[in-house]
Amino acid sequence: MQVKCQICGRAEDVPAWSEDFEKLKEGTKHPYICKTCQDLIRSDAHREKQR
Ligand SMILES: [Zn+2]
Repeated sequence: MQVKCQICGRAEDVPAWSEDFEKLKEGTKHPYICKTCQDLIRSDAHREKQR
């Protein structure tokens, strides 16, 4: 299944056996964010806490 990352718009392949696929099947309440952007968000949040 192909999904588009909500942050960078890149299409990613989500394997049917993955946790992400289960989440996407349950509904689109959680927008798909690729791992690269997830890491960016996490480091950004971390930086803001340090400020
Ligand atoms: Zn992304």
